[in-house]
Amino acid sequence: MIGLAPEPSLAILALVLGLAVGSFTNVVVWRLPRGESLVHPSSHCPRCGRPLRWWMNVPLVSWLLLRGRCGFCRSPIPVTYPLVEALSGGLWVLMAWPGVGRLGALPPLLNLLAGGLLLLWLLPLALIDARTLRLPEPLCRWGVLTGLAVTLGAVLLQPEAAGLLRLHLLACAVGLLGFEATSAAAERLLGQPALGLGDARLAALLGAWLGLGGLGVAVALAIVAGALFGVAGRLSGCLGPRQPFPFGPFLAVGGGLAWLGGDGLAALLQRAVVAGF
Ligand SMILES: [Zn+2]
Repeated sequence: MIGLAPEPSLAILALVLGLAVGSFTNVVVWRLPRGESLVHPSSHCPRCGRPLRWWMNVPLVSWLLLRGRCGFCRSPIPVTYPLVEALSGGLWVLMAWPGVGRLGALPPLLNLLAGGLLLLWLLPLALIDARTLRLPEPLCRWGVLTGLAVTLGAVLLQPEAAGLLRLHLLACAVGLLGFEATSAAAERLLGQPALGLGDARLAALLGAWLGLGGLGVAVALAIVAGALFGVAGRLSGCLGPRQPFPFGPFLAVGGGLAWLGGDGLAALLQRAVVAGF
C-alpha cells in the first residue's frame, strides 16, 4: 500500500540528493552523446569555456541567482538545466514515499536509494533519446547490471523475497527478446524499422529493475502513451508520415510509474484487463 507521506527528514534528503543528481544528469545528457568524458574537465561554460566556481554550480539556486546567464560571459543558460534539476528533485521525493518500489519491503532509506538509482538511468536515457533518437548502449548495459545487482541485494536482505531475482532475470530476457522480435516482425510488415535496438535494451533494463509484472505495466503504459502521442502528432501536423519519434521516453515514464505504483498498480491494471474481458 502507498502510504500518506514520507518522513520529513527522508523527504529532505531525497530532495537534496535528487537536485544534485539532476545537475549530474545535465552533464550526462550534454556530454555522453558527444563522446566526452563525464568527469574531465570539470563543469564549465560551453560558450566561454571558463570553469564554474562552486557557487555557480548549485542546482536551481545558481541559475536563479545568475538569472539564467553564465557568471563570466553572460551568455544564456537554457532553462532546461534548472527544469531537469527540479524534475529530478521532485521525482526523488516521490521515491521516498512509503509503499513505492518493487523490491519487497526494504527499509525506507534503502528503498529510496534503489528508486533514485533507477532514476539515475531513466532520466538521462529519456532525455538523450528525446534529443538524439538514440539510447546509448553503455548506459543501458550498466543500467541492466545495476538493476540485477540491486535486486540481488534486496533478496539477500529479505530471504522471504528470494523469488524476485528469478522474476527480474526472466523479465530482463523477456524485455530484450520480446522487443527484438516485435521490431523484426514490424520491419517485415512495414518495410522500415519500427522500434530501435535501443528500445529492446531499455526494456531489458526495465525488466531487471521491475520484474515481470512491472515490465508489463511499464510497456502497456508506454504503448498507450506513445500511440496517443503519435496520433496527436500526425493530426496536428507536428509529425510527418512515417516520421520516427523516440519511444524511449515513453518506456522510461512507464517504468517510473510502474516503480511508483508498487505492486498495487500491477494488480489494479490486471483487474482492469480481466474486467474488460
Ligand atoms: Zn560563459
